[in-house]
Amino acid sequence: MSFQTAKYLRKATGRAKSDVANKLVSMFLHEVSRKITAKVGLSVADPKYVHAVESEFGGHCCYCGRSLESDRAAVEHPDGMNRFRAGLHIPGNVVVSCKKCNNEKRRDDQLHKLTLATTGWESFLSHDGTKCDANCKTCAYWSSIWPDEMKGENLKAARQKILQFRARYKESIILNHKAHNSLRQELDKIYRDCQLFATNRIKVAVEAFS
Ligand SMILES: [Zn+2]
Ligand SMILES: [Zn+2]
Repeated sequence: MSFQTAKYLRKATGRAKSDVANKLVSMFLHEVSRKITAKVGLSVADPKYVHAVESEFGGHCCYCGRSLESDRAAVEHPDGMNRFRAGLHIPGNVVVSCKKCNNEKRRDDQLHKLTLATTGWESFLSHDGTKCDANCKTCAYWSSIWPDEMKGENLKAARQKILQFRARYKESIILNHKAHNSLRQELDKIYRDCQLFATNRIKVAVEAFS
């Protein structure tokens, strides 16, 4: 039997604990985003910004270019809003993608260290099938979207389009990048503290329960 039921079920507890820590990470990043948004004087909810996203991507996924429908779209942060990428909800880092790309990009976003590029979104768009192991899931994903002879060019075009869009919001992107290392340190701390608190607090509650 290759499926290990016990191991699978045990994972659920661990997952609940990292879910709560990741929620705190996201809340912290949203608060920092508010500060930066105020500093640059433009929010991502501003009609001017919404219009800019619309005119740049025209209702298409910012990565694969497929047309978006409301049930297949996701708010996308090229620099992922997690403890590894420390991206913020600020102009230049909020676009729209299809759910599939949003989901597939997570593999790169969850890496402690990126090897294909310096940012998560560029890394995601660098899986052209020439740099990874034969079993790379992201390379396989891009192969399922485009034929081999178009893949490299299309990935490059998507990278350029996003780069060009982000260049229009240099001020906020630079603030995010400058804060990257200190944000990562703070986020690691928040993540650890939250897990520790959850473990201890639940232990106390469980002891009182029985
Ligand atoms: Zn897509
Ligand atoms: Zn790959």
